[in-house]
Amino acid sequence: MNTEKTIFSKIIERDIPADIVYEDDKCIVINDINPKARVHLLVIPKKPIPTLFDLSPEDKDLMGHMMLLLPQLAQAQKLDGFKTQINTGESGGQEVFHIHIHLIGE
Ligand code: AMP
Repeated sequence: MNTEKTIFSKIIERDIPADIVYEDDKCIVINDINPKARVHLLVIPKKPIPTLFDLSPEDKDLMGHMMLLLPQLAQAQKLDGFKTQINTGESGGQEVFHIHIHLIGE
């Protein structure tokens, strides 16, 4: 098993800096370093789950928590609509193997 910390775990643990826009006990939200739109946030669970394929039933509350956060974050950014994306696996375009939801809007 790969025990190397992901870049997102390093951000969560403040080993490396990031532009943090929100944080609670379950997740952190940062500005994407390479934004694809005016608003491009990453909602990242503190639990380092590599991909959606690795979710287990015990993660239901955590995933629900992040889903409920999305419209709140969008409103705080003055968005009246937004896109979400979860890249999964190498063939799904995933680069960082620590689940994250992209929130993108203009
Ligand atoms: P994905 O293809 O879904 O794994 O996307 C990973 C995202 O993380 C990309 O949009 C990157 O621009 C973003 N990213 C990578 N490193 C950082 C970082 N240190 N701070 C903020 N965003 C990052």
